[in-house]
Parts: sequence; C-alpha cells; structure tokens
Amino acid sequence: MNLLVTGGAGYVGSHVTRQLLAAGHRVTVLDNLSTGHAWAVGDARLVAADLADDEALEAVLGEGMDAILHFAASVVVPESVSDPLKYYGNNTRNTLGLFAAAHRHGVPAVIFSSTAAVYGLPETERVDESAPLAPINPYGASKMMSERILMDLAAASPLRYGILRYFNVAGAEPQARLGQATPEATHLIKVACEAAAGARGGVSIFGTDYPTPDGTGVRDYIHVEDLAAAHVRLLDHLAAGGDSRLYNCGYGHGYSVREVVEAVRRRSGVDFQVNEAPRRAGDPASLVADAGRLRRELGWTPRYDDLDTIVDHALAWERAWQSRRR
Ligand code: UDP
Repeated sequence: MNLLVTGGAGYVGSHVTRQLLAAGHRVTVLDNLSTGHAWAVGDARLVAADLADDEALEAVLGEGMDAILHFAASVVVPESVSDPLKYYGNNTRNTLGLFAAAHRHGVPAVIFSSTAAVYGLPETERVDESAPLAPINPYGASKMMSERILMDLAAASPLRYGILRYFNVAGAEPQARLGQATPEATHLIKVACEAAAGARGGVSIFGTDYPTPDGTGVRDYIHVEDLAAAHVRLLDHLAAGGDSRLYNCGYGHGYSVREVVEAVRRRSGVDFQVNEAPRRAGDPASLVADAGRLRRELGWTPRYDDLDTIVDHALAWERAWQSRRR
C-alpha cells in the first residue's frame, strides 16, 4: 500500500514506519523534525514539512494514499498544562486540517494515535474503551476532540478509522537501531535511562502521596514494538475493508514510579540519584488499560510484556544513542 505517516520521524512513528517498510509498504513520512530525526525514517521517503503546511499536504495526498497513520503531535502532559494553545493547535487544529484533506482526497482509512489521557481519573482499576471520557489536562482534551472529529467525519463519509489509545509507551527496537531520541524528554523510562547512561544527574519522583500501594503514580507501560505491531494489524483490518475500530493499547497491569526507577537501577547496575519531588500538574494517580478488546478482535499478542525487557531495550538504545551523540 501507499501510506502517509505523519510524525514518522518521531518515537512511535519511526518504529511503526520500520514495521510497515518490513511488511512491504511504500511509506511517505511527513514530519516537521521538531522533535524527530531524519535518520529515523530509514528507507521511507521523508517530506520535511509541518502538518499546517497545506501545500505540502495537498502534494502528498495528491499522489493517492491508501491510508494515513497520524502520529504527529505534542505529547508532554505538564507542557500541555502550561501551554494549552500549543496542544490545541498541534493536536486538534492541525489534525482537523489533516482529516479535512484526507476527506477531500478520498483517503479510505485513517489510523489515529490517541491516548489514555482521554480517560482522566479512571473510576475503575482498569479502564476499557467504554469508560467515560473526562481528560484532566489539555493534552488529553486535545486528543479527545480529534477522536470525535474523526468519528463524526467517518459517520458522514466513506472514511474508516482506527483509533488507538496508547497507555505509556516505552522501550526501543530490540537491536537498538531505533529508540526514543526526543530532545528534553520527560517520560519516566526515558528519563531514568538517561540517568543510567550518565546523560542526566538523576531522577525526580513526582508525588509520593498518591492513593497507590507505594504512594507513587502507577502506569501501564507498553513496549513500542508491541504498540507498532498493533498498528500493522489494525491497518491490515482496515485495508481488507474492515469497519472502524477503537482500541486501548496497554498490557493490563501497572508499575509504580518507584518500581520503574528500581528496575532501571537494577538492570543498568548504575546507582543514579533519585529524589522525591511534589506532584506534577495534570497527573492522575493511576492509569491501567483493560486491553482485552485489542487481543480478542485483532488477535494481537504482545511479545515484550515484561518490565525488565522494556528497560533493557530502552537502556541499550540510550547507551547507543548517547555514544553516537558524543
Ligand atoms: N514521573 C516521575 N518523574 C519523571 C517523569 C515522570 O515521577 O521524571 C512520573 C509521572 O509523575 C507519572 C509517571 O511517572 O506518574 C509517568 O509519567 P510520564 O511523563 O512518563 O508519562 P505520562 O503518564 O505523563 O504520559
């Protein structure tokens, strides 16, 4: 298939792009390289342009795309609290522009990267896809709005969608050829691996008084390669004429910040500094997926559902990446 991948030079987008190329698809990446890297697209064609660049979008879609996978977005919860317009601009307005262009060009299918942040403060230990949407930060709200736009458009046109609500994505391509290379990263496993690789002084635990077993935040960490595989399965479903789908992407169990930090110290053998800090704005106490639907309906079976494996791959990547930068 002829595929457009927005944000394909970024963390999740580059791993998906790699799997799509391996499956024999032709991939065009549209990415403004704000946080992504040209090398990360591998053998895909790179169009270095912003999502808001209508001309670039028109030119690419004019070539006739069989599907769009839309990753390009801003993804940092605390930043969304301090700079909401950046999030509504990138994640909602620019996404609306992309969906409108997809509609004009008759693109049959769109896969959209959404987030568990749409659920806000979950009422159940594990959230399934029918849980109420009540985001508590602009990041989650910006994605929720885009989901809705896509669903409404699909109801009024032949377009079919796949929406994937990611829980906490971590890890790296197992041979360390790809990984998270985002500058000024804020995500926990990345930050802890940077500390273990000597690229930062230590790690702060944001909040130790949450109503969780050890008082720190609990998240469902999913390996980026398993997440990428879910995209490929969803694409195959849509390409075969399948109906629109919405799935949580997680493993169904959570780890606390302390458990994650401990795992990174143990697996790396580096005793980096850890200090306790106040809660961070916009953070729920716990966010764990009920991801049974993805397994049942698409036959998705995770390969790397193990915190130590996720940490090992993230560490191997981080060490390779830091030595490459030196
Ligand atoms: N966290 C932390 N220290 C950090 C980064 C994150 O204690 O340096 C915590 C954060 O408060 C949350 C969890 O780790 O409880 C996951 O945060 P992250 O930013 O990785 O992902 P998010 O869930 O916000 O998308």
